[in-house]
Amino acid sequence: MPVDSRLNEASLAALRDGFCGSLLLPGDDGFDGARRVHNGMIDRHPAIIARCQGSADVADALAFGLANDLEIAVRGGGHNVAGRAVCDNGLVIDLSAMKGIWVDPARRRVRAEAGVNWGEFNRATQLHGLATTGGAVSSTGIAGLTLGGGFGYLMGKFGLTIDNLVSVDLVMVDGSLLTASEDENAELFWGLRGGGGNFGIATSFEYALHPLGPEVHGGLIAFSYGDAKKTLGYLRDAANDPDDEMTAICSMTHAPDGSGTKLAAMLACHCGSAGRAGKGLDKVRAVAPPVIDQLGAIAYNRINQLLDDSFPKLALNYWKPCFVNELSDEVMDILIEQFSVCPSQMSKLIVEAPHGEALRREPSATAFAHRSPGFSVLALAQWSSPEETEANVAWARETFERLRPHASPGAYSNYMGNDEDAGRVAAAMGGNFARLQALKDRYDPGNVLHLNQNIPPSDG
Ligand SMILES: Cc1cc2nc3c(=O)[nH]c(=O)nc-3n(C[C@H](O)[C@H](O)[C@H](O)COP(=O)(O)OP(=O)(O)OC[C@H]3O[C@@H](n4cnc5c(N)ncnc54)[C@H](O)[C@@H]3O)c2cc1C
Repeated sequence: MPVDSRLNEASLAALRDGFCGSLLLPGDDGFDGARRVHNGMIDRHPAIIARCQGSADVADALAFGLANDLEIAVRGGGHNVAGRAVCDNGLVIDLSAMKGIWVDPARRRVRAEAGVNWGEFNRATQLHGLATTGGAVSSTGIAGLTLGGGFGYLMGKFGLTIDNLVSVDLVMVDGSLLTASEDENAELFWGLRGGGGNFGIATSFEYALHPLGPEVHGGLIAFSYGDAKKTLGYLRDAANDPDDEMTAICSMTHAPDGSGTKLAAMLACHCGSAGRAGKGLDKVRAVAPPVIDQLGAIAYNRINQLLDDSFPKLALNYWKPCFVNELSDEVMDILIEQFSVCPSQMSKLIVEAPHGEALRREPSATAFAHRSPGFSVLALAQWSSPEETEANVAWARETFERLRPHASPGAYSNYMGNDEDAGRVAAAMGGNFARLQALKDRYDPGNVLHLNQNIPPSDG
């Protein structure tokens, strides 16, 4: 293929020399697959994709991008709905082939490279009977999820993913390599725990692990849509009397049989003993007569795959998240009314309640500021045909606008789409924004890493 005129041939040849991964140009085999991310709404055409194999590849790719004045996107698992892991006409530094995982069972630690996803991570750590809080869909990348915070089934017991992060290895925009931990570059480590990919390119993450499994107790339970308020009421009551070992994700959804029947569902996971789990799951069953009851003993690896089929790659997605302090009757009514007019069978309204260990840190302890009791509400529009786009985007926006008067200003940054304004991004960082901006000034004053929920430098 002729080299894109924006790329300097000599510098491309220099990049190729010694590059261990692959350099993909438009027209190359695999380029079209490599430029697509989870969200099918994102259809961008980069000038070059550098699929890296290690830190040296990342450093060389970054230097090449800067020398050629290319916009730079960084890709981990490619799951972020905003789609900023890929750009038009620029360079994608793609870490998805970096799959190394080293478990140290004696120290209960794991180091995983930035292209690992949660299915791969759980498989490797569960081999040793160990786990840490991670995403509920197996194909989600550890990189983006970790840098934004990390909700998962184990958050009540072990905290958010970032609360288990021990260190991060990075390539910084000046080409230097840094490790950030509590002992080394501690301020940067603080910012990496919730501040997203704003400060450097993470090449690997080290996490603390905990004995768990191979089985936990839980799974899918669903009630008729007429019992939606009782289902949401379970989550409200559980938040008042939290059980660290129990996490339930509540979802207004459609029946898995394709009939289009609306259901009020929960995915529950209890990570304690069979006896305690039995009592916890009985409370869930007591919500109403279930129409689906698949609760029981289940492999931890498996429970983290139960949602996979509901989120097919390249489905069209538009998400609007917020936090509400209370699941008031009014909020519940909005959710129930809005879901009853949802235009797509693939869409959901998801309510999560970070609790237990996830709330035991001060909002300023890490860059992730949302440490108060409350509920993350996500209007998750998902559909398959471009003709349905307008109706689905409108539905998610309308749901969000109806919730807005009940919501706090912030949202979970990992759920935010590509049309959030700077005010919402700043609000997502809460009281930590100024400190994060000081870190940006120090580590990326030119805002090279701006394709993210961006924390701009203070002069920009
Ligand atoms: C189906 C689905 C299920 C999800 N489930 C959960 C869940 O259970 N819990 C939860 O907390 N979140 C969940 N999320 C949200 C998820 O946390 C974010 O989408 C997250 O950004 C995904 O990370 P990624 O590496 O896959 O994404 P990417 O799109 O590759 O990356 C997201 C952004 O992170 C930055 N980035 C990525 N890698 C690096 C790196 N190595 N160094 C520096 N910056 C980097 C870039 O700015 C990039 O644009 C889910 C998302 C989807 C689509």
